[in-house]
Amino acid sequence: MPSDLVIVYHRQPYEEVEENGKVVFKDNKSPNGIVPTLKGFFGRVDKGAWVAWKLAEDPRNPDFERVVEIEDAYGKYSVSRLPLTEAQVKSFYHVTSKEAFWPILHSFKEKYDYDPVDWPTFREVNWAFAEAAAAEAAKGAVVWIHDYNLWLVPGYLRQLRPDLRISFFHHTPFPAADMFNVLPWRKEIVESLLACDVVGFHIPRYAANFVGVADSLLDIEVPRREPVNPDFVAEGTALSEHRVAKHVVYKGRKVLVIASPVGVDVEYIARRAESDDARTRAEAIRADLGDTKMILSVGRTDYTKGGTDQLMSFERILDDNPDLRGKVRLMHVSVSANRNMTVYEGIQNEIERTAGRINGRFGTFEWQPVALISRAIPFDELVAYYRAADVAWITPLADGMNLVAKEFAACRSDGDGVLVLSEFAGAAVEMSAAVLANPFSHKSMDRAILQALRMPQDERRERMTAMRRTIRKYDIQAWADDQMASFDVASGADAA
Ligand code: UDP
Repeated sequence: MPSDLVIVYHRQPYEEVEENGKVVFKDNKSPNGIVPTLKGFFGRVDKGAWVAWKLAEDPRNPDFERVVEIEDAYGKYSVSRLPLTEAQVKSFYHVTSKEAFWPILHSFKEKYDYDPVDWPTFREVNWAFAEAAAAEAAKGAVVWIHDYNLWLVPGYLRQLRPDLRISFFHHTPFPAADMFNVLPWRKEIVESLLACDVVGFHIPRYAANFVGVADSLLDIEVPRREPVNPDFVAEGTALSEHRVAKHVVYKGRKVLVIASPVGVDVEYIARRAESDDARTRAEAIRADLGDTKMILSVGRTDYTKGGTDQLMSFERILDDNPDLRGKVRLMHVSVSANRNMTVYEGIQNEIERTAGRINGRFGTFEWQPVALISRAIPFDELVAYYRAADVAWITPLADGMNLVAKEFAACRSDGDGVLVLSEFAGAAVEMSAAVLANPFSHKSMDRAILQALRMPQDERRERMTAMRRTIRKYDIQAWADDQMASFDVASGADAA
């Protein structure tokens, strides 16, 4: 049966595990994260489908069923598994997307690598995704495509199925034309995105950048810019934007350009943080700390996350403030990437070296300033650290949104805790009650963490109350409602 909503996301929406020699589909362990959120949309339609890739030795003759029917807590839906070889996955995902697109999206021109990109393979894989989506979609269905590794899918899909409503959501930043146009495939990518009915971003700045890029490359009509929702304007900060165009017209078709920040499931996170297990863990952590303050930093090991810059700020403040020695500990969680890429190995080594140097320079037998953790901490444990921390220190150099910042606030039903947040994380436009820091300035970084450590309780509570109000208002449900509303508005009809 054809589907009313087809979600195209590179990963499968469940964990495939072998039990007694049989493959079974298990619901993702944690209902936190984007995959469960997307599956939640299937509850809103009669029939849903999901398109993802799956490794196959011979894609023409895969040793698995192409389409499987799933029934889980989210309802009944089909999953179409696109067979790809290891070489195809490496090329379209690990090389083209991660070595060429990722650095440009995050404005790291110097990390961009053009040479290993095999563009025909990128096209071929995106074409295959478009065909698989077309095969699942009912007449006039919504096909919702996610992220830059599938940039060419909308254009191909429009050729295959002009009847569909096509929406594309970017989970990353989107840079201005001076940066984006470094990509030699820029025109092809933007033309594909303009085949959508809706192009979505987290924040107004990324939407404005997209309109600017399209305007630089193609003859589009851009209407008057309209005022941004005041809740997404953090006056004078790096990612704020006051007015944006809400659609563009290309070749007579209207393309909605929306900014809607993905939120967190506040209720779910609060329940986890309030559980007996989390409370007991958090109390044990606090007891262990005594009167030492705890700073928590959580992210992936990626050059965009600014891990080394943050550690160097910590080293400077210990250097300059002897009174803090023995009185503060940094738990630096930097989940190492399992990608076999030299660039990630280099960053991992740098982080280990810097943390080791700080511990060597300042540590004593009783006190170790940095606890470096390179493994992922299960979410149920993480919430206990969120509860126990005095300060969450989240300072990426570039970040589409940053959910850790929102999760921290969602866990703090005690109303305490300080968030130090980079101005260059999308979340900063909503969470202006955090102590905002500019990670490109030593002074700003050092001042922000010192301000957080020395902040009086009244001010901590005031800021936390404001942040909790915001993350509740723009929670995951609000994002889902916004997305659904945009599908309804999108008609695909010719612009008047
Ligand atoms: N996370 C986790 N354990 C860890 C580190 C991170 O479960 O040890 C989760 C975290 O709770 C969050 C996600 O990973 O939901 C990271 O999302 P974010 O938007 O902050 O960064 P991304 O990795 O998507 O760039």
